[in-house]
Amino acid sequence: MRHGEDRRIGGGSEEIKMAGTGKTILVTGGAGYVGSHTVIELLKEEYNVIVVDNFVNSIKVQSGKGNIYPESLSRVQQLTGKKVVFHEVDICNKHALRTVFSFYHSGEQKIDCVIHFAALKAVGESCALPLKYYGNNVTGSANLMEVMMEFGVKRLVFSSSATVYGQPQYLPVDENHPTGNCTNPYGKTKFFMEEIMKDVVAANPDWGCQLLRYFNPVGAHPSGCIGEDPQGIPNNLMPYIAQVAVGRREKLMVYGSDYDTEDGTGCRDYIHVMDLAMGHVAAIRQILDPTYSGLKIYNLGTGRGQTVLQMVKAFSEVSGREIPYELVDRRPGDVASCYASCELAAKELGWRSKLSLEDMCSSEYKWQLSNPTGYRS
Ligand code: NAD
Repeated sequence: MRHGEDRRIGGGSEEIKMAGTGKTILVTGGAGYVGSHTVIELLKEEYNVIVVDNFVNSIKVQSGKGNIYPESLSRVQQLTGKKVVFHEVDICNKHALRTVFSFYHSGEQKIDCVIHFAALKAVGESCALPLKYYGNNVTGSANLMEVMMEFGVKRLVFSSSATVYGQPQYLPVDENHPTGNCTNPYGKTKFFMEEIMKDVVAANPDWGCQLLRYFNPVGAHPSGCIGEDPQGIPNNLMPYIAQVAVGRREKLMVYGSDYDTEDGTGCRDYIHVMDLAMGHVAAIRQILDPTYSGLKIYNLGTGRGQTVLQMVKAFSEVSGREIPYELVDRRPGDVASCYASCELAAKELGWRSKLSLEDMCSSEYKWQLSNPTGYRS
């Protein structure tokens, strides 16, 4: 059996139904943090969802029938009662990707659009192993677009990042802010992919592409059943705070307390992952409109910045736990403040973030308490 075909499964019980009669979305990296939350919102909107993921940063389980399936998506199926078809595929393997597209395009359920989350995202690792990041993120994305082109799939939503803006020249950062002055290879992979996608759309006027620049996704599904599951020491602030709150880590290191911000600590735009998921639904609605063409870029954030110490205080209030921390030197490459202007997404996608800082902290805490060691709990 060829790679990609043998792993086509919807995990879980037989009672799980296909999502509906809506359009079909292929989600790369859909077993990961942002992907799994977005899949929930897509299923709610009656899209059929097909996920490809290679488990490089997600946890697999074996069903009773011996099928391999992502634990995150197994929980998504339980939460929604709907089916998520899954293929274990590495996007760097063009042959395996082609097999998946060929399977659907030889039948009734053609792929209408791709949401492309699959990427490696650890900034520190990208500095140590740049070729691993360029290979996975840039070559993998180029493969995906080549295969999309072969099968006539012309709609692509890309997970980009605020990191493409580098050191902000003004605040709030809007979509016209210069890009490319990235401080690490991970950020550069996002910038290069944006540039490649611009070229692809320029050369193929019937293609439609959206570059969604996320600010700092945090929090979890309100059920606490799915959330961010960093392997090893968390790179991001919120999971670190949550692990300190439950005693898994001793204290938080706060890098820099002499920035030009309200309390001297770094200030970022944190967005609830469920708001981000809704942002993708709004984007999909726009890109699947038959009149859509070209390439559009949207910031997905809240438009507000929170400092590290404000995050610590908010988490401490919600959890009722003390969060010990230590103020230490700045880290090279960190910026003082970065927050988004989200007016374009509000105007053109009809989307704004709705959830509060308290919602972010309480959902994160619930996820952490019920899953102290993530999906392995
Ligand atoms: P994640 O690591 O939780 O999810 C990514 C998923 O992609 C994982 O399940 C991983 O196994 C899979 N994957 C990676 N390489 C693959 C490959 N070659 N083939 C198949 N699957 C592969 O990350 P996330 O936080 O959900 O991020 C999703 C996307 O959003 C990424 O592109 C990331 O760069 C971008 N982004 C994330 C953040 C953030 O802070 N989480 C911020 C800005 C942008």
